[in-house]
Amino acid sequence: MIKFENVTKTYNRSVRALDDITFNVKGGEIVGFIGPNGSGKTTTMKLLTGIIRPDSGKITVNGFNIREDPIKVKESIGYIADNPDMFLRLKGTEFLELIGDIYKVSTEDRRKRISSLAEKFGLTGALSSPMMSYSHGMRQKIMVIAALLHKPPVWILDEPMVGLDPKSAFELKQLMREHTKEGNAVFFSTHILEVAEKLCDRVIIIKNGHILYDGELEELEKQNKSDSLENIFLELTEK
Ligand code: ADP
Ligand code: MG
Repeated sequence: MIKFENVTKTYNRSVRALDDITFNVKGGEIVGFIGPNGSGKTTTMKLLTGIIRPDSGKITVNGFNIREDPIKVKESIGYIADNPDMFLRLKGTEFLELIGDIYKVSTEDRRKRISSLAEKFGLTGALSSPMMSYSHGMRQKIMVIAALLHKPPVWILDEPMVGLDPKSAFELKQLMREHTKEGNAVFFSTHILEVAEKLCDRVIIIKNGHILYDGELEELEKQNKSDSLENIFLELTEK
């Protein structure tokens, strides 16, 4: 459902953030995108959503080429950005109504989904307050609800667990599992190895805009028998 083919991205004609990256994510898969700070995770995710454009290469989401069908791609995606500090002047409900309007979610579906997701994440009581007054975790939660409101098949989540309390992190992981069980795709970035270990079918490890590993975590552990996963990761990404 996600296809990245030979994608290169340079910022300001000098910083090569991604260098000829190729990978894919199929329906039914949760794929973890792991790498140290500055390795190119957020850049990859922004390219997938169409927020920024590649220098070269081809990007396909849910069967749509991002250059030819940018709107169809956006409709297919639920995106959680790496920073939830947006629309802070709006109240929680106002923000979710805005998102519902943009994505043309019916009034009934909207009501149902907002109340069930807000309940899951313990945010119901806060919806009538301005998001300015929310903690980082609460802002993160409302971004999760907003991203899932239109039932997108492809989830692109940039460090989604950051700032979530344990119960909410659990609920989100549960949602990710349910989503992929229905044949959809989840692509999420993290620098927390344990999260990837518990959740992923496959990991893609990135460093300096290059993919260092793409495959099952078990396979990676087998190849490096003596070491803990953490050591393998450090070894891979410190070179
Ligand atoms: P990650 O999300 O893995 O931490 P990023 O994709 O944010 O990595 O960054 C990859 C590289 O691109 C870094 O070297 C970063 O400094 C650079 N970069 C990211 N965004 C910009 C930008 N808007 N302008 C210039 N350089 C950027
Ligand atoms: Mg990032």
